[in-house]
Parts: sequence; structure tokens; C-alpha cells
Amino acid sequence: MDLRTTAEQEALRSEFRTWLMEHLPWTYGEGLPPRFDDLADTVAFGRRWQGDLASAGWVGVTWPEEFGGRGLGALENYVVIEELARARAPEFVGRIGINLVGPTLLAHGTEEQKRRFLPRILSAQELWCQLFSEPDAGSDLASLSTRAVATEGGYLVTGRKVWTSYAQFADWGLCLARTDPDAPKRQLGITALVIDLHAEGVVVRPLVQSTGEAEFNEVELDDVFVPAEQRVGAQGEGWTVAGSTLSTERGINPRQLVIHSQLIEELLRLAEENGSFDNWRLRQQLAQAATEVRLFQLHNWRSLTRLSKGEAPGPEGSALKLYWSEMSKRLHQTAMDVIGTASPLWQGAPDNPADGAWQRSWLYYQASSIFAGTNEIQRTLLGERVLGLPRG
Ligand SMILES: Cc1cc2nc3c(=O)[nH]c(=O)nc-3n(C[C@H](O)[C@H](O)[C@H](O)COP(=O)(O)OP(=O)(O)OC[C@H]3O[C@@H](n4cnc5c(N)ncnc54)[C@H](O)[C@@H]3O)c2cc1C
Repeated sequence: MDLRTTAEQEALRSEFRTWLMEHLPWTYGEGLPPRFDDLADTVAFGRRWQGDLASAGWVGVTWPEEFGGRGLGALENYVVIEELARARAPEFVGRIGINLVGPTLLAHGTEEQKRRFLPRILSAQELWCQLFSEPDAGSDLASLSTRAVATEGGYLVTGRKVWTSYAQFADWGLCLARTDPDAPKRQLGITALVIDLHAEGVVVRPLVQSTGEAEFNEVELDDVFVPAEQRVGAQGEGWTVAGSTLSTERGINPRQLVIHSQLIEELLRLAEENGSFDNWRLRQQLAQAATEVRLFQLHNWRSLTRLSKGEAPGPEGSALKLYWSEMSKRLHQTAMDVIGTASPLWQGAPDNPADGAWQRSWLYYQASSIFAGTNEIQRTLLGERVLGLPRG
């Protein structure tokens, strides 16, 4: 593992930090992004903020310059994401486009698709969603049943998708649909299509989560026409296209690293204030949590070193995802033990540390062992691909 950054990378960090100090809509190092009661207001704020960042060239720095990026490497991207998180900036509102759809289009899209979609992903002019999971196809994604029937000039798509994050705000969705129902399920028969979320036949129904917010949705597709030029990759090659999307979903995670480093600092401060350090069991839990965050940093750095040498992320992505999600759930459980009797309280309640932010965060991170492929599935992948265990 090589932990040294170059003079150019440090210059980039300093340039971006200066930009953030001048342009953040809150005070750098002190303030926090505004909190809105309505998710639509959060999204509107996020679009403006991402637009400002993109017009200064700070979104998608690894993307080619012709599509709005800077053509930089993985380490430079790591620096930018790290600085954003240190400034307490919210996650990009267009993160599905930036992190999943963009890299997929760069790998498999036509020149026309790249020119049409990529710059608007960076500027948040258009938001995207990922139309993969279905009520009966989550872990076993290859069993999906949404159908795309060839018609003149394109396809007619019918089916039901679920857990589609931000679909209610999305303009486009990257969808997997079955074009050949008789093909063996993992080989041919699935095609990747770009669906216009404003097209006739698309119905989006928000689903409320335990946090009280409705970030994800059910999406019904009823004979939705998709022009042939919106197919990504060849017909029947959707499984390969999906492989690109899913592998980028589990890569290095500088944002979660900074967030968890900030969480542990805040938790230690809180524990000192409320006397939790006097309890030997809590002291042990806090020491464990701090150690785990440090180990997560080392995992990230090891993966980053490989990535910067041009080595493919491989099954290591599964180990990283497994590690951070379980670390996060344990850290949040420790936070609940530290806040003790306040743990069942919610925003607005008296004597509630951080006005319910810890409880909301605990609920939110319960999902971390489910999204981007459940932890059971990651263990299976590691067992088969790293340990060489027989396939189940
Ligand atoms: C916050 C959040 C956001 C999401 N956003 C999106 C999105 O934007 N787009 C999208 O397409 N999807 C999204 N998802 C869906 C996510 O990808 C699926 O929830 C996930 O893949 C699991 O699928 P499932 O929910 O159908 O569970 P299932 O696959 O039904 O699994 C149920 C349980 O059985 C276990 N299990 C299943 N198969 C096996 C096996 N072979 N071996 C061992 N255990 C097994 C699982 O680990 C799990 O514990 C999101 C999910 C969450 C929680």
C-alpha cells in the first residue's frame, strides 16, 4: 500500500478546499447543510448545489473532459469526495447518475448516448434512477420478469420495479428487462434500456421508510415505448451491462469513511459529556468502534492503491461493502447505548442529543446491509471467488 499523495494531488485538494470555503452555502468547518422537512425541497437544494459544483468542474472528475469531467484518476477523485465530506456537504443528489449510470454508459453506451446524457448527469439537470430490483427479483436479479417486446423502432416495456431510490424525482431510469424469455437466465435474454420516467405508461408510487421519508418507490411500467437508440449495449447483453453498474456500487467509499470518522468524533464528545466513559462496557464499545473506523480507512487505502495502479476492483469490493455496513451498524448501536434513555426519542423531543439525528441515522444505516447487494450475498461472493469454496 502506498499512502503518499503527489504534489499535484495536494494542490488539487487545496484548490478545491478554497473553492468550498468561498462557495459553500453554509460556513465551512462550522455550519451544516440546511435541513428541510420535505424531501422535494432537499432535492431542489441538492440540484442547485450540484449544479454549482459541476459548473466549476468538481463533479465526475474522472470522466473524460469532452463529457464534462477532468479526465483525472481514482486518487484525485478520492481527494475531491473526501474534501466534500469534510465540508459536511450532502451526498450528490444525482449520485445514481454519477456513481452508477455514468460509468455504465462510459463503458457500454454509444457516443450519441454519452453526449446526450453524461453532461446533464453531472450538472443535475437530469436525475436518474436504477430500475433493477423487482418484487420477486432482488438478490436473484437474473430472475427478473419485466418484459421488453420488440416493436417498430424500439421496445414496449411492461413490469414492476421496486425499491427504486429517487424515482419520484428522476427523469431517466436504467432498466433491466427480459427480451428473450426462453434464454438461459444468466446468459442472454436480458437487455439494458434507458427509460424516460415522464413517458406514457410509467407510474411512480413513493414508499415510506422507517425514517418517515420516502426515498424509494415502486415503479409500474405498462407498455412503455423505449426507442431502440435508448438500448445500452447489444440486445441480450444486459447482464454484462448490469455487471458494470453493480461493481461500481461496491467500490471504495471515501464518503462513508469521512462520515464515520466524523460520527466517531461526535460520539466520543457526547460520551465524555454524559459520563459514558465511566461505564467500562461502553468504554470498550467506543474503543472498538474507533478501531473499526481506522481499519476501514486502511481497507479503503489498500483498494485505492490497487485502483490507482489500474488493477480491477474485483471481489475486494464485496469485502469493503461487508465491512463498512457491519461496522456502521455496530457504531450506531453503540451510539444508542451512549444516548441511553433518549434512544427511543425523535426530532423535537426535549433532552434529545443532536435533536434525534442519532436515532434517524441508526434507522437509516439498518439498510446498509441490504442495499448494493445484501451482506449474505457478499459473503457468498467472497466464499466462491476469494476462498474458492464450491458453488452452492
Ligand atoms: C435503501 C435501499 C435503496 C435501494 N435502492 C435501489 C434502487 O435504487 N434500485 C434498485 O434496483 N434496487 C434498490 N434497492 C434494492 C436492493 O438492491 C435489494 O433490496 C437487494 O438486492 C435485496 O433484494 P430483496 O430486497 O429482494 O431481498 P431478497 O433477495 O428477497 O432477500 C431477502 C433475504 O434473503 C437473503 N438471501 C436471498 N438470497 C440468498 C442466498 N442465495 N443466500 C443467502 N441468503 C440469501 C438476503 O440476504 C436477505 O436477507 C434498494 C434497497 C434499499 C434497502
